Amino acid sequence: MAKYVYFFGAGKAEGKREMKELLGGKGANLAEMANLGLPVPPGFTATTEVCRKYYELGEEKLFKLVEPEIKKNLARLEKLTGKTFGRGPKPLLVSVRSGAAVSMPGMMDTVLNLGITSETIDALIELAGNERFVWDAYRRFMQMFGDVVMRVPREEFEHALDGVKKKYNRQLDTQLTTDELKKVVESYRRIYRKHTGEEFPDDAMAQLRRSMGAVFGSWNNPRAVTYRQLHDIRGLLGTAVNVQTMVFGNMGEKCGTGVAFTRDPSTGQNKYFYGEYLMNAQGEDVVAGIRTPQQISRQGSREWARNNGISEKERRANYPSLEELMPKCFKELDRIRARLEKHYREMQDVEFTIEDGKLHMLQTRAGKRTAAAAVKIASDMVKEKLISTEDAVARVEPGTLDQLLHPVFEPKAEAAAKQLARGLPASPGAATGQVVFSAEEAERWAEMGRTVILVRIETSPEDIGGMAVAKGILTARGGMTSHAAVVARGMGTCCVAGAGDVVIDYKSKTMHVNGVHVKEGDWISLNGSTGVLYEGKIDTIEPRLTGAFATIMQWADKYRRLGVRANADTPHDAATAVRFGAEGIGLCRTEHMFFEGDRIISFRRLILVADTVKRLRLDLAQADGEEKKKIEKQLAAPLKQYNRALRELLPLQRKDFIGIFKALKGRPCTIRLLDPPLHEFLPHDEAGQRGMAKTMGLDAKRVKELVESLHEFNPMLGHRGCRLGITYPEVSAMQVRAIVEAALKVKGSKPEIMIPLAGHVKELALQKQVALDTIEAVKKEQKLKKLPFPVCIGTMIEVPRAAITADEIAEEADFFSFGTNDLTQMGCGFSRDDAGKFLGDYVREGIYDYDPFQVLDRGGVGKLMEMACRLGRSTSPKLKLGICGEHGGEPKSVEFCHQVGLDYVSCSPYRVPIARLAAAHAVLAEKRSKRKKSK
Ligand code: PEP
Ligand code: MG
Repeated sequence: MAKYVYFFGAGKAEGKREMKELLGGKGANLAEMANLGLPVPPGFTATTEVCRKYYELGEEKLFKLVEPEIKKNLARLEKLTGKTFGRGPKPLLVSVRSGAAVSMPGMMDTVLNLGITSETIDALIELAGNERFVWDAYRRFMQMFGDVVMRVPREEFEHALDGVKKKYNRQLDTQLTTDELKKVVESYRRIYRKHTGEEFPDDAMAQLRRSMGAVFGSWNNPRAVTYRQLHDIRGLLGTAVNVQTMVFGNMGEKCGTGVAFTRDPSTGQNKYFYGEYLMNAQGEDVVAGIRTPQQISRQGSREWARNNGISEKERRANYPSLEELMPKCFKELDRIRARLEKHYREMQDVEFTIEDGKLHMLQTRAGKRTAAAAVKIASDMVKEKLISTEDAVARVEPGTLDQLLHPVFEPKAEAAAKQLARGLPASPGAATGQVVFSAEEAERWAEMGRTVILVRIETSPEDIGGMAVAKGILTARGGMTSHAAVVARGMGTCCVAGAGDVVIDYKSKTMHVNGVHVKEGDWISLNGSTGVLYEGKIDTIEPRLTGAFATIMQWADKYRRLGVRANADTPHDAATAVRFGAEGIGLCRTEHMFFEGDRIISFRRLILVADTVKRLRLDLAQADGEEKKKIEKQLAAPLKQYNRALRELLPLQRKDFIGIFKALKGRPCTIRLLDPPLHEFLPHDEAGQRGMAKTMGLDAKRVKELVESLHEFNPMLGHRGCRLGITYPEVSAMQVRAIVEAALKVKGSKPEIMIPLAGHVKELALQKQVALDTIEAVKKEQKLKKLPFPVCIGTMIEVPRAAITADEIAEEADFFSFGTNDLTQMGCGFSRDDAGKFLGDYVREGIYDYDPFQVLDRGGVGKLMEMACRLGRSTSPKLKLGICGEHGGEPKSVEFCHQVGLDYVSCSPYRVPIARLAAAHAVLAEKRSKRKKSK
């Protein structure tokens, strides 16, 4: 027969720590502590399987099934404590608490002091020797039971309590007398009756049954469901329910309650015992924030007093540590701390209660910690020989490293700041600055030494200069792979994208956010890690990448198989990437180079005549005689301009690549030929078009016509990527020449030429030929027999057709790099820039588990990748495989890349450490699953 309930107490337990899935974290660890002989109030745990049955059978049928076991365990509890439940001279009171396999603090329900009835109350008063305490416990129980079990509005109870306090002129709950508390109980009864149509239950077993049902029910309350979604908690049966003998921290001056950590959860320090407690209080009082909790250790208490400007005299008088106030209890707790850490080999977060000078342990679990604390604790524990380097690497969550790589807000200042809106956490970090609404203003203000936040409806490549100088970027539209998001991540600039509540008016240089009016020059703050926009300035803290962080990264590198490269397009970004441990560049986007300084003029000059040159050349090829001469004449001027632009661009590009090769110091560099549609290089507003016309000595109408002629209804599927190179091979040739000439100038360079957006092998073959011809020409000019580096030409896999025909494509390619931004766009059919509007709904509805632009869609896009890897390697076994879409820095996607056998991932420089650690985790997870299988 299935076992639904597990007992713990008196130095032993039926459960143990390994049974988390079944007993929940709290239940499994209470059992473990009992087995260790620690002072745990006895009790029992109804399993998560019971929770599953609760949803399958409903409350009534469930209790028919499990009540015999509950009663049997209650009887054991009665025997062990010498108390009786719901009757007798020594009534037993219990707590009913939730506890899933993964901790979900505060999300589910709890009922305390259960078992007080009209039959037990007198005996309890006799037993406690304190009438007031028992009536206070009763009113707390009624309030919790009413709220949690029967959904009686909490405010009603609070109003009633306030009413009695007011009537008797009491400021604090603790000042209420016994008679006044009895009055509170009376009004609680009335409220309960009014809302439920029945009397408050006076039978302890009925109280227990309903409370347990309510706690099981709280597994699916909206709070808990949202929490699981936010923290990606999946695949659990439900919550277990722990029924435990009550111990009271609020029964007098020799009582107290607190929470403690075996090491400091914010820094990882292990200098003294970290934790807080309150005398004469119940757990809820510690969290309620009405009284100031005191520190557990003397040293901690002194530090706390110093930080809060409290004198030693005042501290000792009003806020003494537990160490000073109850040295015996402190010593015992300190011994338990050491014992638990050694036993669990992990930092623990414990809850305890002291009743009448006796210590009771109510909970232990792996403590939540900041990323800084996680790396310090993991590396310290290796030094202390508590864990292996493998454990240490596995214990640091890759995603949390973000906290260490960017400036963050000072936590207290952030908590106090006013939130204006929420967008997507597009690029992590924290930024505070003055609002500007255009890239030009951003550059101008930055030159004057101001710190700016660039606010745009959305950004485009022409904003690059402003984006580069901005401390932070905020957009009202766009998703996680929108231009703003991708570029900001690449630069390591904090960005909140797609904040739909932000209404921007460029004309008046203002924005409205949920009733708040913000104008140019006003201060705002962005948290790019959470997506929150704040009003005003918030202080920030800079990151440090040495010490424990560096140690963990070195260990991670020992385990990983995947290479890690970076997406970087400037020498500065390349150097940052190398500093973060990148082994090369996996994607150098060349388009941004066309915007800098005067080169945009040259490129615009080329765009202006490109179409005419192309058309006339085609006509010329078909013409002869007079017609031919006429066309040649027509072609002469535009062609001159076209070639001049290319000549001007060549040395500039070459210089860019020289800088990047130098920064890479011999590491490989994949350089992608021009990708965006040409219209992105032209100004779209009237002022910009007038400016361009003036610079080029043209009529503004001509510029407007040009912009209109390049307009595309669906530019992402339009004339971009290698399609540009097919139409204008001279542009590809110029870029290849610049790459090769630069590589020849910097010893040790390893250039890799990447053709974007190919969907058909012939596109690649044509572009490859252009590259090979150019290389031959350079060799000839420089009288070289051979280049000092291998000529590596590959392609991006971004179009589903490319993945499907990867066997053919591989015959022309030395490498594939999965451009999963576009592959997701075209594979799922979601516009990268617009899908943000509805993808939230898709995730909420569970259609996709995650936004597929953030976490690789294994079931769809992943299958395309698997197919492309398999097909590609079938015709070209040595084909090198990588990824350079944004997924290359996302831990779950990195794991998938490891599983499908890619050679490397490439991501923005600031995500390189995350990818390194995630790649190590992928190996460790594989090892674990192999070990499991072999067992
Ligand atoms: C991609 O599509 O994944 C990619 C890396 O290219 P881009 O984001 O520049 O389109
Ligand atoms: Mg792409």
